[in-house]
Amino acid sequence: LQTHPTTIDTAPIALSYELFPPRTPAAADNLWTTVRELESTNPDYVSVTYGASGSNRDIAVGLLNRLLTETTLRPLAHLTCVDNTVADLAAIVTDLLDHGVRGILALRGDRLQTPGTVHPPGSLTYAQDLIELIRQVEQRRTALLCAGKVAIGVAAYPAKHPESPSAEHDIEVLLAKQRSGADFAITQVFFHPAEYSNLLARARRAGVTIPLIPGVMPLISVRRLQRLGTLTGVDPSPDLIRSLAGAQDDGERRRIGVRATVDLARAALDAGAPGIHLYTFNEHAAALDVLDKLQLPRPARPGPMRLQPAL
Ligand code: FAD
Repeated sequence: LQTHPTTIDTAPIALSYELFPPRTPAAADNLWTTVRELESTNPDYVSVTYGASGSNRDIAVGLLNRLLTETTLRPLAHLTCVDNTVADLAAIVTDLLDHGVRGILALRGDRLQTPGTVHPPGSLTYAQDLIELIRQVEQRRTALLCAGKVAIGVAAYPAKHPESPSAEHDIEVLLAKQRSGADFAITQVFFHPAEYSNLLARARRAGVTIPLIPGVMPLISVRRLQRLGTLTGVDPSPDLIRSLAGAQDDGERRRIGVRATVDLARAALDAGAPGIHLYTFNEHAAALDVLDKLQLPRPARPGPMRLQPAL
C-alpha cells in the first residue's frame, strides 16, 4: 500500500556566512555588530578567510578564537597553502585543532605578486596537497579529537578557475580533492544561474558526490561587482550593472541588488543546492535582507556540527 506524504518536504537548507579578519579596531567593532546579527539567524557555520600566504594569520586565528569562546557560532577556518612550508602548515593546522576548530576550508591561495616577496621553497602546490596534510595531522591528533573528524571544505568554480585549461579539468580537480578527503565544496561567486547548475550536473556525472554549496554574494555594489569580476575572472551581468548604476538612491539600489541575489540563490536551490553560503563582506544588512526574502526552511536551533554530515 502506498502512503502519501501529508506535509511538503521542507528539509533544512544549510546556511553559512563568510567573514574576513578586520584590519583596524573600527573594522573590528563593525564586524562584531555583524557577528551578533548573524548569530541570531542560527547559521550552521561561519567561515573566516585567510590572507594570501598567511599575511593576516594572527588576526584570523584571533577572530576564530573569539568566535569559539564568545559566541555560539561554529567557525570554518580558511587556510591557504601556497608560499607556506609543510612544517608551518602542519603547525597551523595543529594550532587550529588545539583551539577547537573542527572545520577547515583547504585552499591553494594565490602567490603574493608584491616585488621583494620571498617565496619559501618546499611549499605545497595544490589544495589537494593541503587536504592530505590536514588528514595526516588529524590522524596524529586522534586522541584529542574525541568529538569526531575534521570537516574539510574546498573551493569549486562555476565559471572555471582562471588558470584552469577547461571546465572539465576543474571537475577532475574537484574529484581529486574529494578522493583526498574533502567533505564538501563552496563555490566561487557566480552571476548566472546556469553556471551553478552546469557545475552541479558535470560534477555529478563525473562521480563527485560531496555537497556543492553555492557561494552567493549580495549584488548591491557596482564597484564591488566590478572588482570581484576582475579578481575572479567572473563577468557580472551587464544588465544588473546598468540597473544598479541607474538606481535613484541607495534604497532602490539595495532593492534591485537583493532581488537579483535572491533570484540567483533561489535558482541554485531549485537546481539542487543543499545550502547557501553568503559572502557578507562583514556587513549584515544586505545578507539579512536576502535571507529574509529567501525564507529558507531552517531548524529552530542548529544541530551538532552540521558541517559535513548534514550538508
Ligand atoms: P586548487 O584546487 O589547487 O587549484 C588551483 C589551480 O591548479 C586550478 O587552476 C586547478 O585547475 C589547478 N590544479 C589543482 N590541482 C591540480 C592537479 N592535481 N593537477 C593539475 N592542476 C591542478 N584565497 C585566499 O587567499 N584566502 C581565502 O580565504 C580564500 N577563500 C576562498 C573561498 C572560496 C569559497 C573560494 C572559491 C576561493 C577562495 N580563495 C581564497 C581563492 C583561492 O585561493 C583561489 O581561487 C586560488 O587561485 C585557487 O585555490 P584552490 O583552492 O581552488 O586551488
